[in-house]
Amino acid sequence: MRRIVFASGKGGTGKTTLTALVARLLADDGRPLVLADCDVEAANLPIALRAEVLSRDPFAGSAKAVIDPAACRGCGACRTVCRFDAIGPAEDFPRSRLFEVDSWACEGCGACVPACSDRAIRMEPSQAGEVMTASTSVGPMAFGRLAAGEDLSGKLVTEVRGRADAIAAERESDLMLIDGPPGVGCPAIAALTGTDLVIAVTEPTVSGEHDLLRLVALARRFNIPVHVVLNKADLSRSGAERLRTRVQTEGLEMLAEIPYDESVARIPELLATGALSAYPDGPALEAVRQVARAVQLS
Ligand code: SF4
Ligand code: SF4
Repeated sequence: MRRIVFASGKGGTGKTTLTALVARLLADDGRPLVLADCDVEAANLPIALRAEVLSRDPFAGSAKAVIDPAACRGCGACRTVCRFDAIGPAEDFPRSRLFEVDSWACEGCGACVPACSDRAIRMEPSQAGEVMTASTSVGPMAFGRLAAGEDLSGKLVTEVRGRADAIAAERESDLMLIDGPPGVGCPAIAALTGTDLVIAVTEPTVSGEHDLLRLVALARRFNIPVHVVLNKADLSRSGAERLRTRVQTEGLEMLAEIPYDESVARIPELLATGALSAYPDGPALEAVRQVARAVQLS
């Protein structure tokens, strides 16, 4: 199976819209595919494609300490061993003589458990998010949602990838399109691992060029080829020229240059709601078709 990641070193480049459009065009051609949205902190592909959730499973986070109020006698011994200042007297202390754990501050180190001679503290697994599967008009999808304040995004991306792999095996699909997270951190590494091609979506700005280079460096560490799509290419002539030169000097392939066109950006949503029956043809859509053709032939 071919796994192709649409990625960008930064957010806001139009990566999700491009993923949705390419998926749409391939599905129109009858190509069975599976989608994975690995941007677990802001999964927008299910929104763009009006996904219908089919299953929802909890994603376990690290364990947190919990104090049993019936067993706590308020001696404070646990507080002295907590290096994260996560334990303190309850609001109505000293009347209640109870201590409690701030679950936001608890790092799950477990040091407080043996410190309590009354065995009033236990470690409990927490829920750090959800892994979901869904159906869309272009094919089945897996995606995740990380709970606010949690930092296990890389692990959750791996869960989403695993779920998408299982769907692909079940459906005997030979193509997976992955909407990657922005940046080059842990979630991006989890999204790129074991894939066959990175389609780097960038824009003609200084930060677009800078972040493209960071993404290329990451992909090269994993020996994954990178093709570039320059989105909103006509917004800065000098920026686009600089990007073209950079792509050439880095030995990358420029897959397509998409001019700015608001009507193309709205296609996935309009199709999903049934408000669009024909594509608004033009240079922007032709450039997107070029990307879809390259994916089809890859
Ligand atoms: S050590 Fe045990 S008994 Fe003492 S305050 Fe902590 S939880 Fe309560
Ligand atoms: S598990 Fe560690 S961080 Fe959490 S309350 Fe206990 S000592 Fe503090």
